[in-house]
Order: sequence, then C-alpha cells, then structure tokens
Amino acid sequence: MNFEGKNNHEHTDTFISNGVRCPKAAIFDLDDTLAESFQAPSPEVTAALNQLQNRIPVAIMTGAGFPRIERQVLPAMESITSNFYLFPNSSSQCYTFKESEWHLEYNHIISPEERSKITEALHECMQSIDVIRDAPHFGQQIVDREAQIAFTIVGLEAPQEIKKGWDPDGAKRRAIVEMLSGKLSGYDILIGGASTIDITRKDINKASGVHWFSGHLGVAPQDMLYVGDALYPGGNDAVVIQTGVKTIQVSGPPETKKILDELLIACAS
Ligand SMILES: [Mg+2]
Repeated sequence: MNFEGKNNHEHTDTFISNGVRCPKAAIFDLDDTLAESFQAPSPEVTAALNQLQNRIPVAIMTGAGFPRIERQVLPAMESITSNFYLFPNSSSQCYTFKESEWHLEYNHIISPEERSKITEALHECMQSIDVIRDAPHFGQQIVDREAQIAFTIVGLEAPQEIKKGWDPDGAKRRAIVEMLSGKLSGYDILIGGASTIDITRKDINKASGVHWFSGHLGVAPQDMLYVGDALYPGGNDAVVIQTGVKTIQVSGPPETKKILDELLIACAS
C-alpha cells in the first residue's frame, strides 16, 4: 500500500495501527476499493464497515449513484448509524442518515440543457475518436444521473474481464479526457472505475466532498483517512490529495479489508 502516493509503509502503519493514531474519520471509495467494479462488497468488508461506523464517522465516496449503493451495499449492513455517510456521483450529492432515514444533504445537479450538450459531445466523440469507436461495447455507454454523467466506454453490460482489461492503466481514458476537455470546458472530467469517465460540475468532485465532510464534522482533512484505488494522476480519487486528507492507495478489496481490520484495532479504544 502507498501513503500519499509514496511507498511509505512505516508512516501508514503508524497512522492506522498499534493503537498509535486512529483517524477521526475514514472515507472509502467503492469500485475496486471496497468492492470489485460494479459488484457488491463482500460480506466481510460490509461487516467491517458496519463495525467501524460504531467507532468513527465513515463515508463511502464514489462515482456510483445512490440507487446502486442502496441495492448493493446497504441491505448487507447490520445496522446503519448517523455516523455513516454517502457521497454518490463523485460527491456531487451527499446523503446523511437521521432518524432511520436517508436525507439528501446537498445535490449539485447539472441543468438539463447542459446535460444535453455533454451527451451530444460524447456522441460526437464516439464517432470521431478511434480508441472509443474501436472499443468493444456492450449495452448503454452514457448514463445520465443528473448530478453526474458517467461515460462507460465498453458499455454497462460488458463482461468484467472486458471492463478490467480494456484500459487497465488508464492511458486510453487519459487521452479521451484530454480530447473531451477541449469540447467541454467548465466541467470536471475524471477517470473512475475500471472503464469509466465521470463528468460533474466544475470543482464538484471528491475533493469538494472531503471539504464538506470536514466542515460538517469539524475535523481537519489532515485528521481523516481516504482509501482508494485511483489515487494516480487523473484518477478520480487523486483530487482528494490537495485537501490534505491522509490517503492510502490500494490494489483492490482484499487490501482494503486488511486496512479495515487494522482500523478496527487502531480505533478500538
Ligand atoms: Mg475506484
């Protein structure tokens, strides 16, 4: 695992284990961090999250929409407390849990006119950019969730191995993001998940989510921990680094599970 993008096991371990220092809040990405892309987290990961929210505030910050979290994550949680927060659609929305119900705390939607413009630009790219045109695709490629438009180049129905194998290092999507940035100024365009590009309003991203969470809890970002798989340049987790939040890069759910276990020990008292 990396700490703030560097190999620094010692510092990471100091932060989360040996009872030295438990973060004041922990934030987890969903796809390829808590769960395999588009899948539900394992029962072990869900159980650990459930336990951790009884000790410190815990958030899921993801490119996924609320309905997917509601379907794939929440039913397996034994009990949800007001210590559990959701930031779907790349933090363009926040849900808090109060009196046994989810409340939409804020919602930075993109106007219908702007969404048409974005969708049009994406359709143009699908015709004109070779790397997109030549990609295998299965089913819907553009998903409009009002606060975010997700562009899944290989399509939502693509088999897992195609989703994972099409652009494992993000190089194709970095090139696409560069071309899209020329057509769509005024938006945040970031690589997320295994084969997706997420588009949100300018400066609405996981960094704004971390700032909101920090303000809401009255806890400095420096005292919080962010765990994600896409902390590399251009990745949808990397934007959080500028907030000062402590970060741990993971290779996938098994490594996240280890971190959850260490956090449960570090935050036990
Ligand atoms: Mg991810």
